[in-house]
Amino acid sequence: MDISTQALRQSLIDASIDAEIQRINVGTTGNMSIRTEDGMLITPSGIPSRQFLPETIVAMDLDGNWSGSIKPSSEWALHAAIYKARPEVRSVVHAHPDHCVALSCARIGLPAFHYMIAGFGGDDVRCSRYATFGSPELADVTVEALEGRTACLLANHGMVTVGSTLTEAYGRALKLETLARQYMLCRSFAEPVLLNEKELVEVKQRYKTYGRQDAPNA
Ligand code: 13P
Ligand code: ZN
Repeated sequence: MDISTQALRQSLIDASIDAEIQRINVGTTGNMSIRTEDGMLITPSGIPSRQFLPETIVAMDLDGNWSGSIKPSSEWALHAAIYKARPEVRSVVHAHPDHCVALSCARIGLPAFHYMIAGFGGDDVRCSRYATFGSPELADVTVEALEGRTACLLANHGMVTVGSTLTEAYGRALKLETLARQYMLCRSFAEPVLLNEKELVEVKQRYKTYGRQDAPNA
């Protein structure tokens, strides 16, 4: 195993353990991957993150081929379908955080109740159509719900985020669960007032330079 592969494998282990600490995954729920030159590195199926070793992370191509005795995540087809459909994506995170799951069970996506929703690429975060976990159909409905976005909810299941690095995709997963919690909190006592089109245009304009130290002051 070369040094760069070793570091990528370790980053998947570290993020998977952190996901358990942050309680966006429990037990063996969720999975993560990083795109490689000839496919992806993906977490194994049905193994708790604290038992992951660099060699339990599976290297596979995007057509479902791998070698060795460790099975890749049952959601490998979902990860592969995203990499095939979205050339800019280099990492995928799937998790089952409480508030995302609760909304997904009611098939409710996240509207623009907060400006940070626009940080996922559009005016909302969609909830996908339902499909069985681990199925090729789930891969298809996920790609559909993710169109033009970096996050979506999976009906009666959980959520997916993508990014140009694992750090970015994983950060988006934590952000999405926080927003899902805040949305539910607001809905618990009032009907959220959504941002209008003009307000969202301004938010997107701000996001173009937000966090960029090299950008001129707004
Ligand atoms: P794996 O353990 O196979 O990755 O499955 C967990 C999961 O979240 C399935 O949707
Ligand atoms: Zn899942």
